[in-house]
Parts: sequence; C-alpha cells; structure tokens
Amino acid sequence: MLSSLDALVFDNRFVRELPADPEPRNFRRPVAQAAYSRVNPTPVAAPKLIAYAEEVGQLLDLHIDPFVTPEFAEVFGGNRLLPGMDPFAMCYGGHQFGNWAGQLGDGRAINLGEVINARGEHWTLQLKGAGPTPYSRTADGLAVLRSSVREFLCSEAMHHLGVPTTRALSLVTTGEHVQRDMFYDGNPQAEPGAVVCRVAPSFTRFGNFQIFAARGDTDNLRRLVEYTIRHDFPALGSPTPEVIGAWFAEVCRRTAEMVVHWMRVGFVHGVMNTDNMSILGLTIDYGPYGWLEDYDPGWTPNTTDAHGRRYSFAQQPHIAMWNLVQLANALVPLLPEPAPLQAAIDAYAEIYNQTWPEMIAQKLGLASYQAEIDRPLIDQLFETLPKIETDMTIFFRHLSNFDQSYANRNAIELLQPIAEAFYVSAQLTEEAIQPLAKWLRDYAKRLESNTLSTQERAEKMHALNPKYVLRNYLAQMAIDKAETGDASLIMELLEVLRRPYDDQPQYQQYAARRPEWARHRAGCSMLSCSS
Ligand code: AMP
Ligand code: MG
Repeated sequence: MLSSLDALVFDNRFVRELPADPEPRNFRRPVAQAAYSRVNPTPVAAPKLIAYAEEVGQLLDLHIDPFVTPEFAEVFGGNRLLPGMDPFAMCYGGHQFGNWAGQLGDGRAINLGEVINARGEHWTLQLKGAGPTPYSRTADGLAVLRSSVREFLCSEAMHHLGVPTTRALSLVTTGEHVQRDMFYDGNPQAEPGAVVCRVAPSFTRFGNFQIFAARGDTDNLRRLVEYTIRHDFPALGSPTPEVIGAWFAEVCRRTAEMVVHWMRVGFVHGVMNTDNMSILGLTIDYGPYGWLEDYDPGWTPNTTDAHGRRYSFAQQPHIAMWNLVQLANALVPLLPEPAPLQAAIDAYAEIYNQTWPEMIAQKLGLASYQAEIDRPLIDQLFETLPKIETDMTIFFRHLSNFDQSYANRNAIELLQPIAEAFYVSAQLTEEAIQPLAKWLRDYAKRLESNTLSTQERAEKMHALNPKYVLRNYLAQMAIDKAETGDASLIMELLEVLRRPYDDQPQYQQYAARRPEWARHRAGCSMLSCSS
C-alpha cells in the first residue's frame, strides 16, 4: 500500500517497445509510422478534485485520502507529472458511422504512464480533456464537466454491474471554461471544464491496428499485434501466424461477451465507431451513451445518429460484428490466408446467438435454457414489450415476483407485480394489455417446469437484473448539481451504483422510472456528441 503519489511505480511498456513519432513539438499533424506522439497535459488554472473512486485507487495500491492530498488534483488535473510518467497520445484511425475517417488518434486523451502494482498488473492512467495533442485536428482537446461526470459515473456503474469496462479514478474540475455548441445550432456556451482520469490495462482500439493497415505499414502493424498479444493476451503464447488467428478469435469472443452484457443491462453505447472499440473487449469512450428506460429496441440517445439509428440498442450486436470485420480486414496482411479470420467472425455470430438467449433465460429465472420452448417465449417477450411503454430495468427486476400460480390470473392481476414499470397509465387499456398479459401467463406456465424454488429463482434473478442503473436523468441531476458547485450527488450515486443488485431501501428513489420532466430534456433522453 502506497501512502503517497510519488511512490507509484511506472513501467511504460507502450512507449518503450513501440515506435515513437520523432516530432517533439505539439501541433496538429498527420503522424506516420508511429504508434504514439509524446505530449504533456496543458496546465489548468485551478484544479479541484470533486469525485474519486476508491476501489480504482486500490488497483494502483494507493492508500491516500486524495481530497486532503494537495498534489492529487495537480497531478490528475494535468498540472504536474510524477516521477516515471512519460505522457503520450496514441495514433489511431477508425470507421465513423460506417465510413473510413483516416487518422483520428487521442485528440483529448493523454496517457500519463503505466502503473505496475504489487501484483504485477499494469494499469495505464489516462487523462481525458487535458489539452490538445497532435491528434486534436480542429478541436480543443478539452472536456466539459457534464460529459466528464457522465464518463466518471458510468465507467464505475458498468464495472459494478459486471460489464467489462475501462475504469475511472478521479474527476477534477479545471477552474476554466470551455466553449461548446451543445446542439450544433450556433449557440455556443461557456461551460465548466473538467478532466477524468481513466484507468485500464490498455486503451488500444481496433483503430490502432487499422491506421497501420490503411497506410500499408505492415511492419508496424505486426509490431503492434505482437506487442498486444505478448502483454495483454500472454496465455496465447508467442505470436506466430497461428496465434494471431487465435488472438483475433479471442477478441471476437470478448466483444460478443461485452455486447451480451450491454443487452442484459439495457446500455446503448451511442457511438460504436471502430476507434471506440477496445481490443480488450472493454466498454470504452463514454460519450452520448444512454440506458433504455422504456424498452424500445430502436432507441439511441445520440442525436447525431437520430436519422440512421445505426447505433441503436438492437443494432449493437450486428455493429460489433461489422467492426470486427473491419479489424479482420486490417489483419489480413499478417496471415498466410484469411480463413482463420473468417472463422472467428463466424464464431462471433455463433457465440452471440447462443449466449444471448441463455442470458435472457437467466434473466427470466429459468434453471436451464431449452431452445425449443424458450426461444419462442423470449421472441414473444421482445415483440410484446415495446407495445406499451415499459421500463426495462423495473420490468425484469419485478419479474421475480411471479410464480406458477399466475398462470390462472386475469390481465389486471397479471400486471400488478410490474405496475411500477409502466410509463403512461392511459396506454393500459383492456385491449392493449392483452398481449403482455398473455405473455405473463405463458411465463407463469413455463415456471411450472422450472426446477428452481421461487426463492432460489428470485435470488438468481436479482443477481442479474439490476435494481439500480445510471438512469439518464440521474446522471443529469448529478450534473445540474455539480454545475452549481455541489458534487455530492456524484458521490452518492457512485455509492448506490457500487451495489446495483442490492435492495438498498434508503436509496429507493434512485430506482424510480424516469420522471416526466426528463422525457424530452436535453441530456436525459437525447445527447449530442458535443462534449
Ligand atoms: P469520439 O467520437 O468522441 O470518440 O471522438 C472521435 C475523435 O475525435 C477522437 O480522435 C477524439 O480524440 C477526437 N475528439 C473528440 N472530442 C475532441 C476534442 N474536444 N478535442 C480534440 N479531439 C477531440
Ligand atoms: Mg473515441
């Protein structure tokens, strides 16, 4: 356990082993034949720590009170480097909304270095919003408080839900203002600036490989792949062409697993561009993401995507596969023949198509998934749910209140245990509720052959169907308060979201469905990429 920041030990493998951009000056430019450019954070006027995730500090072996350690805000606001830090921005490209966008790179993220903890684990520290880099293109390299609160809270909420994700250590306000035109309508506003420190074993994205492939730089592509296999997938062995195929299959498997979790908890990433896909299968880059409130498979929170809905909830499994295909295309030059890449893509679809219904069966509290009878039940559920505005989280959480005795109940009685899930009581007409009532009856009948006791079933369901998620309006309430200088709701939500599957009666209010004031409020139901 370390009692001071200066005691952190850095082992900066990425900068040591991969090719650097030789240009030391910080100006926007194309960067060829390099995995990264060295760049320091830009100092800010008055860094102030407003939120901290203790368990992420523990990953780094930190045993400090960051709120009384004055250098903490200095370091994690970007004003001071610790001994051993060697800051850099990564070079990557990406497909944005289906089109190759060329060089993107860390335009506002600066990696400070890789901490090695007492267990020998590497954790890269990365500041988001710490000033311009060679990859900032036409933008300012900064982040506003609202988007930083959202990134900080959602990273941790996802982790505690059991969803693979990058983590967030701290949230520091800069004491400076940042101009943002939130709706791209010619009305820029000065907003408070902030910096989040993100933490992950690696921030490498699909786009890091794609940029080398797009430039025909096979040597550096190979170096990056071998580096990634050696350090992040050591169990696969030394990177031969065969191992590269196995590695890609593992990336496909992890990506499938991540997306199944998103579908389980009702998370919509919002910008699944290939530069926002982690090679480790972690949820990365929390921008205009959102949580399903009423179950609407076509919903996306991202106003920039409102027309195409490319990144809507139901599209995510398919888009992840599309992104994997782009990564596979980038890897083709490294293999004697592309068959293993194709096989891994096919396996992605198989894994997803097998794991997803099994996961839903578990959400329904079934001891086992029996495809012939359960698949129709599952398909029927997701056809029925969007017909009446029904809160996804509350619906699944309350489903544990059913047992086989409900098979004989009338429609009104059947809806009783899930009454809190409905948004618009006027929609609950005698006729409109029939499909859901029928489904609930079928579900109750299915429970007759379920081998779990009601109690066992409820316990299993509660461990998978969260009571608390970072509802869009909750994040917005925390932001509204933080913008008045009071960060208490950020820390309170972090506390609730640490145990999303526990009842926590003292925090009942944070399990409530979205209030009407939030239905059309910016930041709650719709978000732009402006952050
Ligand atoms: P995103 O869609 O937010 O993941 O960002 C796409 C690209 O734009 C990445 O290369 C980001 O680093 C870059 N970017 C986003 N916002 C900014 C900003 N304020 N300043 C500089 N670069 C940015
Ligand atoms: Mg991004």
